[in-house]
Amino acid sequence: MSLLVVGTMAFDALETPFGKVDRIIGGSATYVAWSASNFYHDIKQVSIIGGDFPQSEIDNLAARGVDFAGVEVVKDGKSFFWSGRYHMDMNTRDTLVTDLNVLAQFNPTLPESYRDSEIVMLGNLVPAVQMSVLNQMRQRPKLVIMDTMNFWMEVALDDLKKVLTMVDVLMVNDSEARELSGEHSLVKAAMKIQAMGPKYLIIKKGEHGALLFHEKNVFYAPALPLEDVFDPTGAGDTFAGGFVGHIARTKDISFENMKTAIIVGSALASFCVEKFGPTRLQELTKEEIDQRIKEFVELVNFDIINVA
Ligand code: AMP
Repeated sequence: MSLLVVGTMAFDALETPFGKVDRIIGGSATYVAWSASNFYHDIKQVSIIGGDFPQSEIDNLAARGVDFAGVEVVKDGKSFFWSGRYHMDMNTRDTLVTDLNVLAQFNPTLPESYRDSEIVMLGNLVPAVQMSVLNQMRQRPKLVIMDTMNFWMEVALDDLKKVLTMVDVLMVNDSEARELSGEHSLVKAAMKIQAMGPKYLIIKKGEHGALLFHEKNVFYAPALPLEDVFDPTGAGDTFAGGFVGHIARTKDISFENMKTAIIVGSALASFCVEKFGPTRLQELTKEEIDQRIKEFVELVNFDIINVA
């Protein structure tokens, strides 16, 4: 199923308890593309970058089947810049800097070849731009998936709520689900959010895994207990990329297949956190991915014996 991805392509400065980098490639659409391209090789990327974005990074993604016709390059502009610092538990972080730079003028016009995409992955981005992408599709895509963050709930809640009415699957973390719904219970939050539009809700809980809600059904996927978590940046987008890449490859948008997609997304995210930025994703082999998916299956596979 053809796949369109929209989101940021950026430079990040990151600080974790284990180290620091001043300038590394990042952005929601960058991580989604690196992750999804392990499974699907016709990804129509929509983003905006400055003349400072390295050509080698574009070439590496293009070689994996990522189409850059929808990525605007502002030659004399600077790419989006984000800086964050993680706390000791690595589940919480402070945003230190968000410099929109070229993102402030982002008003994408989709290439003709993009407008029939069957799956649209709205990576974390200004809600008005997410909406504009959906409005340019020739027909309603078969599946619209949206990621967002608390930042947009605070500065663009009305637009965010409008996009939600156009979305099938929303991905947020637990604190964002609580903020959006005003409910502490994630079960109540899930019901309220489904009433806002998305019939499927994925709540990511960092090192505690992810929950998939659909009507009265709930599925839980754990996160793999890892010895070392070096840098969680991009884990959410990498999860989204694995999820959407699996769905695009299998052409199956059922709840049952979304369960597998969540395991695939969790496996990819578990690699992402092992090194700074997208470094680990950039060196990943198919054998490593297959092996890790098996480890996930073993983690939750058990027989119940002698319970009564
Ligand atoms: P994640 O850790 O999955 O939330 O994603 C982190 C990535 O999102 C970083 O590479 C940032 O460049 C990017 N990012 C941070 N803030 C924003 C924002 N407000 N809008 C879009 N992308 C962002």
